[in-house]
Amino acid sequence: LNVSRFLREHIRTVPDWPSTGVQFRDITPLLQDPQVFRVLADAFVHRYMAPGLRPDVVAGLDARGFIIGAVVAYALNVGFVPIRKKGKLPFTTVEETYELEYGNASVEIHTDAVTRGQRVLLIDDLVATGGTMLAGIKLLERLGAEVTECAAIVDLPELGGSGKVRASGHSLFTLVDFE
Ligand code: 5GP
Repeated sequence: LNVSRFLREHIRTVPDWPSTGVQFRDITPLLQDPQVFRVLADAFVHRYMAPGLRPDVVAGLDARGFIIGAVVAYALNVGFVPIRKKGKLPFTTVEETYELEYGNASVEIHTDAVTRGQRVLLIDDLVATGGTMLAGIKLLERLGAEVTECAAIVDLPELGGSGKVRASGHSLFTLVDFE
């Protein structure tokens, strides 16, 4: 089984959503089919079970990063922490603001979500411009954690985000590319 090709065939492309000209890569079909969901989750679990890559904790990015991140954390028998869009977390937080095509976005993490020196796997569904993933890295590093790897189901390499994440000195693992 070619995992990348198999997963790619189960991603739905929705034209002109959320705005004209955007081809949205919809990952919900990957989750809906139990066999596909298992192939997806196992692709990450097998990689991060390896002793050198096994994290102490998984951090997931709001909101689809929660779905895959929680499953991977459970299978690895490590904890899960959420990085949320601004205004959702109840306890003390740190915040990172980053630029979007139009305007800004902010993400937050609880100040006690990770401890200094903890090895963190940071996961989301997709890397486009990389702004979200880079903001997540900054939050974790501000709290003293070590981001051992970033992971996503989908990379859109033409948007430059995966290149930016790697240029920042971080390892990035993705399963499917869309040109
Ligand atoms: P970036 O910050 O890299 O520009 O955008 C990535 C973030 O936006 C991720 O959290 C991802 O969930 C969301 N996103 C942007 N475009 C898409 C897309 O085509 N499909 C999906 N599933 N998410 C997207």
